[in-house]
Amino acid sequence: MNRPRVGVSSCLLGQNVRYDGGHKHDPFVAGKLGTLVTLVPVCPEVELGMGVPRPPVRLESTGRGVRMVGIESRKDHTAAMKRFAARRVAELEALDLSGYVFKKNSPSCGPRGVPVLGQRKKGRGLFAEALHDRMPLLPVVDESDLADRAGQERFIKRVFAYFRRNGKSRSRQFEPQSPEDSKSV
Ligand code: SF4
Repeated sequence: MNRPRVGVSSCLLGQNVRYDGGHKHDPFVAGKLGTLVTLVPVCPEVELGMGVPRPPVRLESTGRGVRMVGIESRKDHTAAMKRFAARRVAELEALDLSGYVFKKNSPSCGPRGVPVLGQRKKGRGLFAEALHDRMPLLPVVDESDLADRAGQERFIKRVFAYFRRNGKSRSRQFEPQSPEDSKSV
């Protein structure tokens, strides 16, 4: 791999994957960022099989913790999304991601500040939470962090620093550990 891989919410690339069949194309993410890194698009709700269009969901505070529930359907997607997220995040980790751009406020993708019905404290989308738990040091933003030049440059620097750091530690795993090792190489 000669350049960083960055995960991205598919709707930011203009893919029609939102609950209403639309997208949230972001010119910087779909344009400039894609010329510097290899983007890895993920739509957790579509990959889970929720379909397009689909009934919208939200986070709700309940006696059983924060749940992802259909606003009108009342269907509880929490367990299915957590199972999917654990598997998909493991796949993404194996790709050696160096960053992630999430869609703001989504009950699946929002990395912070997502409204949770029934509590004042804001939350995190369930997929973003699984990614954070598995890769807590990964540079993560939502599209609002990339709204100006300073934010864009800050994120790109963090991604390349992470890429260089992790690349070095990966290559060290294959360096000889002792003179004896080097004889057998
Ligand atoms: Fe899919 Fe996430 Fe975009 Fe919602 S915010 S449409 S789950 S990629």
